[in-house]
Amino acid sequence: MNVVTPIASRTVDVSTIPTDLFIAGAWRASASGQRIEVINPSTEELLATIADASVEDGLAAVDAAAAAARGWAATAPRQRAQILLRAFELMIEKADWLAELISLENGKALADAMGEVKYAAEFFRWYAEEAVRIQGDISMAPGGGNRILVQYQPVGVSVLVTPWNFPAAMATRKIAPALAAGCSCILKPASETPLTAFALVEILCAAGVPAGVVNVVTTSQPGPLISAMLHDSRVRKLSFTGSTAVGRLLLREASDCVINCSMELGGNAPFLVFDDADLDAAVDGAMIAKMRNGGEACTAANRFYIQRGIFHAFAHKLAAKMAAMQLGDGWLASTACGPLVNEKSRDKVAAFVDDAMARGAKALTGGKPLDRKGYFYEPTVLIDVAPDSKLLHDEIFGPVAALVPFDSEDDVIELSNASEYGLVCYVYTRDLAKGLRVSERLDSGMVALNRGLVSDPAAPFGGTKQSGIGREGAHHGLLEFTEAKYIATNW
Ligand code: NAD
Repeated sequence: MNVVTPIASRTVDVSTIPTDLFIAGAWRASASGQRIEVINPSTEELLATIADASVEDGLAAVDAAAAAARGWAATAPRQRAQILLRAFELMIEKADWLAELISLENGKALADAMGEVKYAAEFFRWYAEEAVRIQGDISMAPGGGNRILVQYQPVGVSVLVTPWNFPAAMATRKIAPALAAGCSCILKPASETPLTAFALVEILCAAGVPAGVVNVVTTSQPGPLISAMLHDSRVRKLSFTGSTAVGRLLLREASDCVINCSMELGGNAPFLVFDDADLDAAVDGAMIAKMRNGGEACTAANRFYIQRGIFHAFAHKLAAKMAAMQLGDGWLASTACGPLVNEKSRDKVAAFVDDAMARGAKALTGGKPLDRKGYFYEPTVLIDVAPDSKLLHDEIFGPVAALVPFDSEDDVIELSNASEYGLVCYVYTRDLAKGLRVSERLDSGMVALNRGLVSDPAAPFGGTKQSGIGREGAHHGLLEFTEAKYIATNW
């Protein structure tokens, strides 16, 4: 693999980005005055320090969102749509700048960051279009005595909690439908990647979002802060994206005030390649499904099940492509794979690979961390992976592909479904009937058939089992921020 040497040519001046809390339309320091350090994972250098919100700050954000809620809910849908459309345009205008910012704080390769910015901006455009299409329905009661009217009303003040792996897209995937539905909100981004969230707030303000409708708090103590918000009866919605472990905890917290929850949690995606697949297309799809974001995606292919007849050809082609990837600082245009987000993530990937190798796995390429500053791990392909290896059961969240051969359709479906997760599965076959049959039998919210990518703002994204509850994107994502109001009517 090639290692790129950094050069100093950044267009982003991080010191121009606000780093305080954004509450009621104004930037303010945290009550405690405490700060959190944001580190560039490519260099381990300090990028910025940001405000560390206390519970008191969190509740001030709830005050602001609650004060703005009624006014925003009463805004004409067309006005909400125009603000969202303007936010889309502003984001696209700043796409290069935003992509570099994401690469700086998250470490992902610039091309991945640019893909994220465009994907993230599309949520603003998609929900601008959906804001004016919130329909209800009317029917005659079966007994013929009255009409059943159903209308969809904003659920109310919404708490949005997002992870670091897609700092722009996970935020817009929640903010856009919340605003379109007429909800005010408080965003709590991950403290590894807060600068992108702050930059998004500036875009939303420039687009015309009124004070208090979007608030942002960053904290080193998310547990107590989110818990306090979920125990404030003015909060009516939690939309969370993150790990299944934290998701479980928040579902418990949300139960006290019976808060409406949408949960986008972890995954353990199987990638199935049948003997009759187009081998080159399957390898290209595998590179996207595995290496987009350096493997740090909930949709990342985690377990590769390859039918025995094609196994060695697939393994060697994939290993060659992985070995050829350019590693380097995320923000350099020549980088294909950046570092992991922090030391803990890099060490977890290393521990998973070491565990698999101790159980007999062989690395066709990679297999160790990179000996340089930054949290780099070599793109790795493993074969002879024992069934009890940890990386077949838990999210790797890094640039490691574990390959396992299979014989029959029934075997691979059983292997794929033997997981507590059910977010996405990938299937490669030239036989469309088999592809659809297998897709139907897989226990997951999404299937990518002869594709390495499912994410699309116009499609319902989400998981089954312990990968989550609810859907983001499409019209479904907007309905998550509404309540159905039934009016029994005589006229
Ligand atoms: P995480 O669960 O550690 O953190 C997610 C968010 O929750 C962050 O903002 C964090 O500060 C906050 N948080 C952490 N502990 C908390 C607590 N006790 N109370 C309240 N909030 C808390 O996840 P992460 O490491 O940031 O992100 C990676 C995980 O996110 C992976 O498991 C990945 O699969 C998942 N993810 C899922 C999707 C999806 O759409 N299903 C998308 C992206 C990431």
